[in-house]
Amino acid sequence: NQQRTPNWNLEATYSELPGVFYSRVQPEAVESPDLVILNESLAKALDLDPDALKSEEGVRELAGNKRLEGSMPIAQAYAGHQFGNFTMLGDGRAVLLGEHITRSGTRYDVQLKGSGRTPFSRSGDGRAPLGAMIREYIISEAMHGLGVPTSRSLSVVKTGESVQRETEHKGGVLARIASSHLRVGTFQYAAYQGSEDNLKELADYALNRHFPGNTGDDNPYLSLLEQVTRRQASLIAKWQLVGFIHGVMNTDNMTISGETIDYGPCAFMNTYDPDTVFSSIDTQGRYRYSNQPGIAEWNLVRFAEALIPLLDEDQNEAIKKAEQVLSGFAATYQSHWQEGVRAKLGLISEEAQDQHIIDDLFDIMKKKEADFTNVFRGLTLGDPESTGLSGQVAFDQWYKQWQVRLERQDASWEEVQALMKRANPSVIPRNHRVDEAIEAAVSREDYSVMERLIEVLQHPFAYTDEQEEYNHPPAGDEPYQTFCGT
Ligand code: AMP
Ligand code: MG
Ligand code: MG
Repeated sequence: NQQRTPNWNLEATYSELPGVFYSRVQPEAVESPDLVILNESLAKALDLDPDALKSEEGVRELAGNKRLEGSMPIAQAYAGHQFGNFTMLGDGRAVLLGEHITRSGTRYDVQLKGSGRTPFSRSGDGRAPLGAMIREYIISEAMHGLGVPTSRSLSVVKTGESVQRETEHKGGVLARIASSHLRVGTFQYAAYQGSEDNLKELADYALNRHFPGNTGDDNPYLSLLEQVTRRQASLIAKWQLVGFIHGVMNTDNMTISGETIDYGPCAFMNTYDPDTVFSSIDTQGRYRYSNQPGIAEWNLVRFAEALIPLLDEDQNEAIKKAEQVLSGFAATYQSHWQEGVRAKLGLISEEAQDQHIIDDLFDIMKKKEADFTNVFRGLTLGDPESTGLSGQVAFDQWYKQWQVRLERQDASWEEVQALMKRANPSVIPRNHRVDEAIEAAVSREDYSVMERLIEVLQHPFAYTDEQEEYNHPPAGDEPYQTFCGT
């Protein structure tokens, strides 16, 4: 009886970079690996065999207990600004198993998170609580459903071991898939090391991997800065438009690919408030909702600083060139945000006073503490009642004005609604729903709550009745808090 294999097709091009960029490691085996969830549709999209992944051998691989065929596990070195302070970092609880190549030739990093200590662990235990890994799985898959570029989650395995934090937790290992784990912090690390050759090799690697069309440009490294700036501007606009708060936008958590990574203290906003912060350690609100575009820009300045030696032989010229590219961030971000918010309101034609209509709505939402998602959902349904704002004089007036505005454009309500339905999710991962799913899975081994939630979150623009049930904000108005490093 021939054992089926998952069909991993691994390469390890990152390991061809100079040795300073990584450290060879092995994931530490866990006591009794047990599959909690496997992302079958992702597995299929990667040309992997879901049944083989679910088999005992497959699960041992996903736990780090068995070596994948062709893998060359490493921990990546990087540095980064954490809450503004520069420090040396690296994969302290993650291992890159290799790069899986799909049949169509697309390359994805396969990384285990929570897989044990590495040379970069410092005082950490290299482990992760099961609940936190399930949380990353749910939220990253919800982001993917929302059309936001993100790392994906392939599986969560329960380790059968305990993890000590403030209290004792069950342990978990997440398998995550990303187009790469190159970060702004990887470039900061290279720049800090001081070898221009190494920096150049890293930049060439990033260009080849993510921007192959730009490798032959007159100044490919300036193009690299430009492309990453563009992708990040687009990404952050997408976060803002769905009310996603990352919570720990340190430069080591900002990718070159333009994907969202590192789901720690992130959460979606319920009540609209630009000052929203969920992370318990973000006491200054550095990473609050309204600061995300500015922080992205700040991080890109750090990226540009690292690239300076490659941008021009003359340092002053290099700085000038970098500044010119970076000055484009705000406008690019604004144009993505504008396009997105106009779609959210069904605005197709352009009129001078559109900005007032947009600003007025956000003012009302803020003053009346409206639910961010449900306001746009209600507008999309043409049902002012369900925005939670109807009956408020300012909103009722705004609503009439908005309707008159829509009538002035040459588009039917059906066309307008179709546009809005693509821009306004009917469901987001509500914090209390995510917590409920984690609780059932972790303390009762009941995975059905989590599975149903994920199913609903996979199609957030479907506007089904089930989604309405999933989209009620929490009953109380207690502030929600998230925790780093759990
Ligand atoms: P993060 O805040 O998740 O971006 O992590 C910041 C740094 O701390 C990274 O270098 C992580 O690898 C490291 N780290 C986080 N948790 C642990 C842990 N439990 N053990 C070892 N290193 C950790
Ligand atoms: Mg990180
Ligand atoms: Mg993290």
